[in-house]
Amino acid sequence: MSKLEADACIFCQILAGTLPASIVYRDEHVLAFMDVSPVIDGHVLVIPTYHTPDLSGLDDESGGHIFATGRRIAAALRQSGLPCEGINFFLADGAPAGQTVFHTHLHVIPRRRGDGLGFRHGEGPSRGRPSRVELDELARRLAARV
Ligand code: 5GP
Ligand code: ZN
Repeated sequence: MSKLEADACIFCQILAGTLPASIVYRDEHVLAFMDVSPVIDGHVLVIPTYHTPDLSGLDDESGGHIFATGRRIAAALRQSGLPCEGINFFLADGAPAGQTVFHTHLHVIPRRRGDGLGFRHGEGPSRGRPSRVELDELARRLAARV
C-alpha cells in the first residue's frame, strides 16, 4: 500500500487509530466496528487489517477470517437484546455494486420482519426465471474461469 493510499483511506485511518471508531473486535487479521451511518441499529463492518480496495486484493486466508468474524458478530447480535430475527451479510465490490469506501469490507446487518430493507430484482432481461439452457450456459462460462 502506498502512503498516499493509506492517508486517503478512512478505514486505514480507523485501523491506525487516527480516526475514532466504536470497535467490536480486533485481532491481527480483522477489525470490526460499528457503521457510523447504520442502515439498521447494530450494523457492523468487518475489514482486513491491510489495505485492499476490492476483493481482487483479498487473500483467501483473510477472506476466511472476515467471514468467521462476521459469523461471530452475527451470533453476538442475536444475543445482544437488539431487535434481530435474522442477519444479512453484504459486500459491495466496485462502485456499480454500491461500494463507497474503497477498503474492502463486510457489512453485518441485523434484520427483523418488516424492517423495510431488501434486495429487489434489477432491470434487464433476467427479471423472470431464465431457462435451464441459459442457466447452464452461464454456469459453463463461469466454471471455465473459477
Ligand atoms: P459501502 O457503501 O462501501 O459498501 O459501505 C461503506 C460504509 O462505511 C457505509 O455503510 C458507511 O456508512 C460507512 N462509513 C463511511 N464512513 C465511515 C466512518 O468514518 N466510520 C464508520 N464507522 N463507518 C463509515
Ligand atoms: Zn485502507
